[in-house]
Amino acid sequence: MTHQPQQTAVDQSPGHTSGIRQAVLRVAAALRARWGVGLLIFSGLLLEMAFNSAVPLSFKYLVDYAIIPRDEKILVAILTGLAGGLIVASAAGLGLDYLYAKFSTAVLNDLRWQMFTHLQRLSMNFFARSQAADITARFSSDLASFDHALELVLDGCVLPALDIALTVVLLFMLDWRLGLIAMLALPACLLGPRLITPRATAAGYLRKKSESQTASSVQENISGQSVIKVFGLEKSMLARFAERLAHQARVCLRVNFLSSLIERTAYIGTLVVQVLVLGVGAHMAFHGQLSIGSLAAFQALFGNFINSLASCTHFYPTLVQAGAGMLRIEELLAEKPGIVDSPGARPLPRLSQEIRFSGVKFGYTPAQLILDDVSFVIRAGQSVAFVGPSGSGKSTVLTILARFYEPDAGSVAFDGLELRTALQDSLRGQLGVVFQESILFNTTIRENIRVGKPDASDAEIEAAARTAEMHEIIMAMPKGYDTSVGERGGLLSGGQRQRIAIARALLRNPRVLVLDEATSALDAATEASINHTIERAAQGRTLVSVTHRLAAITHMDCIFVIEAGHLVEQGRHEELLALRGVYSSLWQKQQGFVIAQDGAARVEASRLLAIPMLQSLDHAVLEELAQLFITERCLANRDVFREGDPGDKFYIIVRGRVTVWVNIPDGGQQQLRTMDDGDHFGEIALMEDTPRTATVRTSTDCTFLTLARDPFLKLLQLEPKLRETFQKIVAERLKASATHLQS
Ligand code: ADP
Repeated sequence: MTHQPQQTAVDQSPGHTSGIRQAVLRVAAALRARWGVGLLIFSGLLLEMAFNSAVPLSFKYLVDYAIIPRDEKILVAILTGLAGGLIVASAAGLGLDYLYAKFSTAVLNDLRWQMFTHLQRLSMNFFARSQAADITARFSSDLASFDHALELVLDGCVLPALDIALTVVLLFMLDWRLGLIAMLALPACLLGPRLITPRATAAGYLRKKSESQTASSVQENISGQSVIKVFGLEKSMLARFAERLAHQARVCLRVNFLSSLIERTAYIGTLVVQVLVLGVGAHMAFHGQLSIGSLAAFQALFGNFINSLASCTHFYPTLVQAGAGMLRIEELLAEKPGIVDSPGARPLPRLSQEIRFSGVKFGYTPAQLILDDVSFVIRAGQSVAFVGPSGSGKSTVLTILARFYEPDAGSVAFDGLELRTALQDSLRGQLGVVFQESILFNTTIRENIRVGKPDASDAEIEAAARTAEMHEIIMAMPKGYDTSVGERGGLLSGGQRQRIAIARALLRNPRVLVLDEATSALDAATEASINHTIERAAQGRTLVSVTHRLAAITHMDCIFVIEAGHLVEQGRHEELLALRGVYSSLWQKQQGFVIAQDGAARVEASRLLAIPMLQSLDHAVLEELAQLFITERCLANRDVFREGDPGDKFYIIVRGRVTVWVNIPDGGQQQLRTMDDGDHFGEIALMEDTPRTATVRTSTDCTFLTLARDPFLKLLQLEPKLRETFQKIVAERLKASATHLQS
């Protein structure tokens, strides 16, 4: 399931100037930091601006002092001056372009760096609630609009603004009355943009958001193709995407129209003033109140003024887009970093005595407590395991231990030193973690192992691979350690991927080896062999393992049983069995199955007694029933059956994990629960030909034992009384299931 990113206040009401202001502040800060370059850029701009105004101003002197009095000397002097000015201004322009390109690249890269480093400091919680495409959009399209504005700002805004300032002075010097009329151009030109810009900025922000949502939909669609295909969801996906595009089209249309409106209103305003200035100027020249040269220079300068003004208004939509992008960038930068080392944080010495959880309370959100008052001690060098029903909080204990999250109450300490006061690096340096699904990068085996310790030598990598019992396998590959593992390690088997992950963890020579369902997704033979490897690799270290497969941890020094966020039992395997509590019933659930070398599974008759619906059968019937079960295997991420399918089989999970989903009225699905080894489902199908009331999907490769209705019913024919009991139970189950769905 994907999590929607939390909406922030900025998300809902973007301040129309705040993005632009932030963009400007960022450039100003960069200029302050590189003030030498800033000064050179500014000098170049002044030269260009001076030349831009000198050309139209020269009209006055050419007409009034050279052409009309026919003075060739002055004519040559003015033209030579202009030619000299042209050379200086062009040279300055070239230098300016180079310096500015260097400056803007540096600003952009600084920002990218700041965003990326910030991202590294954000909490796991942030990543859990964010969509990857939304984050990458901030690096791509949002940064691109800032980049675009930065590229154009000199020619599109700064130079025209300087030109405007100088031309205004010159216009008044030429004729103050015409100058006053010309100034009407300013309000005429700015009124429209001022009124429309807030709306355009808000719409621009919405467009950016809509674009990133579209990107997320595409990404989700790509990663969910297996589910889409097996569910036949193509049509509904297309319909949803069409809706998404229609929304984006509406938002884009609004942005584009508002942006054009900004330019259009400015253009009409200036056109009116231009005609007015020409009319009044011509009238004054006609009546001898203005020289011909002044009129020509005024018109040329005013043309410049208008062009510069137009340039600024033309640039404004770009600035608005940059502002919208900057809002989203600042939003990312404003995300509070996850866990930060406190000012006086100390390095954590290598673990030598114990890890202690004291009264730990924790919830991913304030609304739901996941761990409630959990206290325990793990002695250094011990092997311990956390077990319990799925979703009880076992993995959460590990994330707290690795300090990906901090407890809301209580403390975690290594040798008496609270993790809160320790440097994170010194903690993580002591941990080697192996997850259920190890993320391998699309590079060589060697580089994938090196991830555990970037400065490791090849010899260290080999030694780690040997301990992970992967060296021989690697050497048998054509390119040895330089073999590429393919996308997500797809060229290797599941077992090989886990061995690489183990080698990677061991490369750090960790004091604590942490395993989070590290072997859950593997087949029985591979699991046994990897467990053996882990046992050897863990010698001399502390081993903390989370697993739902109890057979793998019977030898552990201590087993902690977590149920609904509480630590309910702890002790060695035999001690826990003797308690006849949660552990014992979990253990019983996983007993009574035999898997042969060829993968075929068998259930013992006595194990069937643990299934409430079968409890009323006598042993002889159960013996016969056990023979009727057949082995079925299903790969990960497939549907075992879908809600509404005809139900004709009962399933017991021998190995693996499934999730149960129900359709909800808005067309989506809601996950009800997770089931794993020893759990069973679909028993109603044994008696009734009713459609399935939920969808069951595998989340790992699974081995099931299934019992079809027909042979089962045939067996029941022999026991009419049993049939009656059965029908009663089924009726109760159907009622219970309906009530559950209603709630
Ligand atoms: P277990 O390892 O026992 O199966 P977990 O510790 O993974 O259980 O999860 C305990 C509960 O916390 C579950 O209800 C799960 O949905 C929830 N949970 C796990 N990770 C997160 C997360 N990053 N954000 C919010 N809830 C989470």
